[in-house]
Amino acid sequence: MSGDPAKLDRIVAEARRAAEERARTYREQALKIYPWICGRCAREFTRANVRELTVHHRDHNHENNPSDGSNWELLCLYCHDNEHQRLLEAAAGGSTSSTGPRVSTYAAFADLKELLAKKQPPK
Ligand SMILES: [Zn+2]
Ligand SMILES: [Zn+2]
Repeated sequence: MSGDPAKLDRIVAEARRAAEERARTYREQALKIYPWICGRCAREFTRANVRELTVHHRDHNHENNPSDGSNWELLCLYCHDNEHQRLLEAAAGGSTSSTGPRVSTYAAFADLKELLAKKQPPK
């Protein structure tokens, strides 16, 4: 018996379900702990539009979900996008931008990246 595609499918589906389950859980928790306000633009949310409020992970590690919510930040879709865009550009070394020198910004982010890498706790 080498390779049972049905079994693999089940494993993948199971893993995906677990991830979704986890996501739903931390989102619910975050919405319980924090007021429904975007942490960047201060836009307020109600039940009608809370779907547009997302849970951002401060350290960008989606596996890091302390129950006190210290790694979560509620951001609206737009601010959340911006937040990640900023880091993507930093990771790309600013090469996505051809508008003027951004050397100092890049250097700052490079330092930050190194700092973050060093801060990883030993496993
Ligand atoms: Zn916002
Ligand atoms: Zn995020």
